[in-house]
Amino acid sequence: MLCKTNEELNALVKEAKSFTSNGKVADYIPALRKGNPSNLSIAINYPDGLCISAGDVEKKFTLQSVSKVISLALVLIDQGSEYVFDHVGMEPTGDPFNSIAKLESMIPAKPLNPMINAGALVVTHMLKGATVSDRFDRLLGFVQELADDTSISFNKEVARSEVETADLNRALCYFLKQHDIIDEDVEELIDIYTKQCAIEMNCLHLARIGLVFAMDGIDPDSGKQIIPKEYARICKTFMVTCGMYNASGEFAIKIGIPAKSGVAGGIMGAVPGRFGIGIFGPALDDKGNSIAGIKLLEMLSNNYKLSMF
Ligand code: GLN
Repeated sequence: MLCKTNEELNALVKEAKSFTSNGKVADYIPALRKGNPSNLSIAINYPDGLCISAGDVEKKFTLQSVSKVISLALVLIDQGSEYVFDHVGMEPTGDPFNSIAKLESMIPAKPLNPMINAGALVVTHMLKGATVSDRFDRLLGFVQELADDTSISFNKEVARSEVETADLNRALCYFLKQHDIIDEDVEELIDIYTKQCAIEMNCLHLARIGLVFAMDGIDPDSGKQIIPKEYARICKTFMVTCGMYNASGEFAIKIGIPAKSGVAGGIMGAVPGRFGIGIFGPALDDKGNSIAGIKLLEMLSNNYKLSMF
């Protein structure tokens, strides 16, 4: 994709960069410690093909929790919404993304929503495919289609590093298995989930995916409906209610757009009917969101009146 450097965006990135020193890179997945906390980049992709960007735009990062909204879209296509919401709920939790606290009280029901780890693991469990690698390959193919780049792959080092340290996610899986919410081998599910989180791209790709969600699931170039409109709507609603973990309420008030963040520093934004946003800034705040990325979105939202509310 051709993306032009933009002076206005450059100035905003410069201003937001000063906030990177107030955050730190995620360290609970050892490979993520290698992130450079002063990186910051943004791309904005419009439906007519225009793309503007600023900062370290070629820097690649792993999707981490941004992948949760993409796997949800594919599972909705695979299984239909009735089946999906028989297995995962629709309510925000107000707890950190990896919290195990509410799991016991929800039994015999289901994890509260697909954006927390417990719910995302159930979503990944529902991905269709004959084998474990089929299921991951289908998800990767879907990401490639959304981003319009077949060279997108996953970062093996990050995936391995997370497999080696994913004991809390394993605990969530064993709990879900004990209560018959999932019924597959836990290590297989952890294998797909960690690869899903390790899918790697730059902010231009992320803006392109955000644009497809912003345009109700339509590929801006081919006009193809990649995600049915109803499912794109469901995904964007989750992005508003739980996309920024337990900071989603404040984000909705201050910024007011559907967005999803990940602990590698990515934020995908989808401004309905207008454009997609991809941000990368690995210095995180205490909730696990890109600290300078949020500042950048706050400035954009104020300057260009982006809030939906
Ligand atoms: N792979 C990460 C995990 O499950 C994703 C978390 C995140 O980005 N919040 O812990």
